Amino acid sequence: MRTDVAIIGGGATGAAVAYFIRLQDPAADVCVIERDPAYELASTPRASGGVRRLFSLPENIELSQFSIDFFAGFPAAMAVAGRPAEIGFRRDGYLFIVPPEDRAVLRRNFDTQQRLGCAVTWLEPAELKDTFPSMNVDDLGAAVHSPDDGWLDPYSVLTGFREKAKSMGAAFLADEVTGLAVAGATVTAAALKSGRRVEAAQFVVAAGAWAKQVCALAGVSVPIEPLRRFEHYFECQEPIEPLPYIKDTRRLAFRPEGRGYSGGVPTLAEPRGYNFGVDGRYFERVVWPALAHRFGQFERTRCLRTLPGLYDQNDFDGNVIIGPGAGGLGNLHLLAGFSGHGLMHAPGCGRALAELLLTGRYQTIDLTRFGWQRVPDGTPLREEGII
Ligand SMILES: Cc1cc2nc3c(=O)[nH]c(=O)nc-3n(C[C@H](O)[C@H](O)[C@H](O)COP(=O)(O)OP(=O)(O)OC[C@H]3O[C@@H](n4cnc5c(N)ncnc54)[C@H](O)[C@@H]3O)c2cc1C
Repeated sequence: MRTDVAIIGGGATGAAVAYFIRLQDPAADVCVIERDPAYELASTPRASGGVRRLFSLPENIELSQFSIDFFAGFPAAMAVAGRPAEIGFRRDGYLFIVPPEDRAVLRRNFDTQQRLGCAVTWLEPAELKDTFPSMNVDDLGAAVHSPDDGWLDPYSVLTGFREKAKSMGAAFLADEVTGLAVAGATVTAAALKSGRRVEAAQFVVAAGAWAKQVCALAGVSVPIEPLRRFEHYFECQEPIEPLPYIKDTRRLAFRPEGRGYSGGVPTLAEPRGYNFGVDGRYFERVVWPALAHRFGQFERTRCLRTLPGLYDQNDFDGNVIIGPGAGGLGNLHLLAGFSGHGLMHAPGCGRALAELLLTGRYQTIDLTRFGWQRVPDGTPLREEGII
């Protein structure tokens, strides 16, 4: 078959691109190739669901601002046949807490966020204690609260985008890309496991933690590695006041979930690889002490479930690589390397890549700095402070 745009990977990001392409140009043919329509190992359904504007790079802040507003209107915008696409968006806020030595960085990022129009609040330790009386603030230097952020159900975002894109004419193939044919500086076709072949003018690699494998099919090496991360569900006996999504510089990140809490402590020290094993002691060894240090109530906590998942970790600089040119291939577009932010930026990046594919340039948020060129140039673009 032949299509204008072939998207490899139908998780949240691939489905978002398909939706925005059909929205921006209903005449454009788009085909999403997804090898596992049950999404058993895909990262999207395993994500924690946090969405926040608390970044340092203007591009990431702008992506969040668009995406979070988009999530607020998601049920209506993604409704199919009058049925709203609920995503359980809880706007209960997001809180970054830092020790005194990280105050200056937090302040700089706070200023950038304010300059870009985010309704963020600076909290001194005493104000933090007033707001969240159970929190141990003794070792903290400051905090920033973003009250309009929060969390949502990742799988519902994926299905919302996918079903809407389908209803607008995007094709979804349940198949695996096993080869990419290259002629000169152009990818001409994708060979599928079923024996089918998809020819396209443009290809998008939205394969998350598998982006490296897919790019290798075209002879291209990208610095995106699978990085295992655990999401734990835990409960505690003693009540704590209502909390936002909380994150600190040691990467403790958690939020309320049902009767308990969901979160973890991702670590970059984890060996790269497709490892879905569970380290049954990780919670006790790493997460529990961090929780109990911050809230005394967690001295007595029970971890009831641990779910492993993979980050599409960009080991070059921890930010998404978006757009064409990897390995010199002009029509091979990357949309991977989110390093833990792919769900919250799926709407913004989906819209941006659709603009680039359909018009040749970004029309709204300029993501040029997140392009492939920074990799061969050796100019990483890193987040500062909490990542
Ligand atoms: C524990 C955990 C917590 C997280 N928490 C958050 C969070 O709070 N907020 C946030 O924004 N992000 C979070 N993330 C990151 C987020 O999950 C990812 O960045 C995002 O889901 C990536 O979406 P994706 O569509 O690119 O990848 P995926 O959802 O992994 O989809 C990629 C798809 O590509 C398919 N595929 C791969 N190879 C092929 C092939 N050869 N042919 C066809 N199909 C192929 C796969 O089957 C898969 O379905 C978290 C991740 C984990 C693991």
